[in-house]
Amino acid sequence: MVSRVIPVDPFDLVVFGGTGDLARRKILPALFRRFCAGQMEQGARIVGAARTEMDDAAYRFFVREAIGEFDAAHARDQENLAAFLNIVHYVTLDARGNTGWKALAGLISPNRVKAFYFSVGPSLFGDLAERLYEFGMADGQARIVVEKPFGRDLSSAKALNATLSKHFDESQIYRIDHYLGKETVQNLMAVRFGNMLFEPLWNSQYVDHIQITVAETVGVAGREEYYDRSGAMRDMLQNHLMQLLCLIAMEPPAKFEPDAVRDEKLKVIRALDPVEGHDIVRGQYGADEDKPSYLEHVGDPYSTTESFVAIKARISNWRWAGTPFYLRTGKRLKARTSEIAVVFKDAPHSIFGAEAGRHRNILTIVLQPNEGIELGVTIKEPGPGGMRLIDVPLDMSFAEALGPDAEHVPDAYERLIMDVIRGNQTLFMRCDEVEAAWAWTDPVIASWEKRGDRPLVYDSGSSGPVEALALMHRDGRRWREIRK
Ligand code: NAP
Repeated sequence: MVSRVIPVDPFDLVVFGGTGDLARRKILPALFRRFCAGQMEQGARIVGAARTEMDDAAYRFFVREAIGEFDAAHARDQENLAAFLNIVHYVTLDARGNTGWKALAGLISPNRVKAFYFSVGPSLFGDLAERLYEFGMADGQARIVVEKPFGRDLSSAKALNATLSKHFDESQIYRIDHYLGKETVQNLMAVRFGNMLFEPLWNSQYVDHIQITVAETVGVAGREEYYDRSGAMRDMLQNHLMQLLCLIAMEPPAKFEPDAVRDEKLKVIRALDPVEGHDIVRGQYGADEDKPSYLEHVGDPYSTTESFVAIKARISNWRWAGTPFYLRTGKRLKARTSEIAVVFKDAPHSIFGAEAGRHRNILTIVLQPNEGIELGVTIKEPGPGGMRLIDVPLDMSFAEALGPDAEHVPDAYERLIMDVIRGNQTLFMRCDEVEAAWAWTDPVIASWEKRGDRPLVYDSGSSGPVEALALMHRDGRRWREIRK
């Protein structure tokens, strides 16, 4: 199977924050891979912009180093790398002043798609939007890409939406959530809406519950200041886990078109019940032998910010009433993994008797580390000795099913940046979605802040606080093992 690459028209892409961590690790390597794949027509141009003084040659060296460090395999393609570096430019520029803006405006072509990637701290988003307008770059062909976090509560998200919308139409604003760019997340939609098999069972009559886990092994080192002001709820659950929940729970849109998909996601968020205090568990990782605890990391013994959160969410609509959604995410856990598990109900009657045991179908969508979809089915254990049942996976890992094509499943940033250039907003969050997500999250955060709750301490390398296990045990259910 050979995948088709459709080149996009020539474009200008400006990466504000072009010297930053995200640009080095993700954006620049992703652009290079798309270049190698043949997706950029002659004339495409990539411009890094930041305050650091540099000329094109120095920035090209910087980009070469970044690609070498974060995508060594592709960096070996010297011919493509040299050609790619030729389309890379740099402008020294200050978002908060006038330095560099004329030079940038002079570099950008007026009559083609221009994308401005705001890969800078959120406090600069407004300045960038304002300067783009002042210097005549906010025309109808302009698109802006906004990184997370999009606000820290409903009022700041509304203020940011208002600032951006002063000079850009909603159709020009791309709020990025890189989880939505993952191949498996899109496959989830293909599996749900491209097959007859699942959709009739996709409701509270057949689904017992859904679990969404995003577990990290790293702590907050390097991001202490940002993280301590944010916490797991704001940093992960309000956006990434909520988006996954929407894709699982939404009704089939009439068409796979941006607003049709986003309308359905929005309805899910609006149907979420408020979360009760006893349905939330917050935690902070403790010290490991040689690794500091969360409190030591952030240097504040009184910090009440959570590095782990688990909640039981309920969606009040016809499809999902009675089927809980359990969500958890945290740092310094047992393994780095992100998965969604759709756990189906038991068969109504076992003809094989009690000794055959209880068996359940589970559809698992793994986002990392190895993207794939697995359906657990019950079969007879091979061999003589009666009807013993076991659960085995019907596996659809991309590596096996797609052969050589799977060797390079495009990274989320590759897909999302190309979607910006193509003008496809399906995988980006709309303003009302972001605001609805905060409107649901704010009271949850306010409730624990009002109570003055301290997060529970959990062991590094564990599955989080034992109370999070109890969140499911008390319902007669259990979390799936956090596995590599
Ligand atoms: P970073 O490493 O601190 O980089 C910030 C960039 O902004 C640098 O290139 C910096 O360059 C530039 N900058 C700072 N002040 C500026 C100004 N006044 N004018 C122009 N440029 C300025 O941050 P990052 O980790 O790349 O994160 C960038 C954004 O992506 C943030 O919103 C972050 O929340 C988000 N994000 C990051 C990650 C990640 O993995 N890193 C993941 C998800 C989201 P100079 O100092 O040269 O100006």
